[in-house]
Amino acid sequence: MHEITINLHMHTRYSDGSGTHKDIAAAALKTGVDVVIVTDHNVLVQGFEGYYKEKTRKILMLVGEEVHDQARDPQKNHLLVFGASREMATFADDPQNLINQVREAGGLSFPAHPDDPEAKAFNETDISWEDWSVRNYTGIELWNALSELKTVVPTKLHGVFYAFFPAFVASQPIPKTLAKWDELLASGQKVAAVGGSDAHALHMNMGPLHRVIFPYEFHFRAVNTHALLPGPLSGDATMGPFPRL
Ligand SMILES: [Zn+2]
Ligand SMILES: [Zn+2]
Repeated sequence: MHEITINLHMHTRYSDGSGTHKDIAAAALKTGVDVVIVTDHNVLVQGFEGYYKEKTRKILMLVGEEVHDQARDPQKNHLLVFGASREMATFADDPQNLINQVREAGGLSFPAHPDDPEAKAFNETDISWEDWSVRNYTGIELWNALSELKTVVPTKLHGVFYAFFPAFVASQPIPKTLAKWDELLASGQKVAAVGGSDAHALHMNMGPLHRVIFPYEFHFRAVNTHALLPGPLSGDATMGPFPRL
């Protein structure tokens, strides 16, 4: 078996991230990841999939999307979609139908940040997954680095602290999400688990301080998902259908 390191769930300027796909590729090449999966909100961005190379290093960029119903208030139930052959945002209003449509299009789906607490310091509302009546998704995003951050940042000052000392985060998934995974598995469902970064490379200003908090490169060294493949990546990005789990 061949082990690869995947960093998944990140945003570019096509939604609410600050960087470009090229920035992400450059950051990934500086770290040890083999694959990055970019997931902008409610848009399947075309034209960036493939290998990016620098000297002896190469990384594979794949593009999925993070779909949620923008008409819903609050805007909960975010679904990560990988490998679907077409745009899925049109099915956002009904989570079960969305999951079914992703499966039909040959894709994989994962409820994102299942427990995502409010972070008043950043005007972030609670955007947890709520609709647990759904079935037939591939798995859950057991560990979302940004949700974890929201649990340790009660004030903006804490945010500044972690922006300068990021090694103090990325220590564990939210215990409530671990308990939920146990519950789902105990109910007999097959639920895979992935870790996501939810990288946005956001800019933060506070008085004289200006900093990109949690740049892509930081995330690529924090929460990653490891996959075991029958062999190494082929180096050919014009692949066949996405593997089914
Ligand atoms: Zn989200
Ligand atoms: Zn996200």
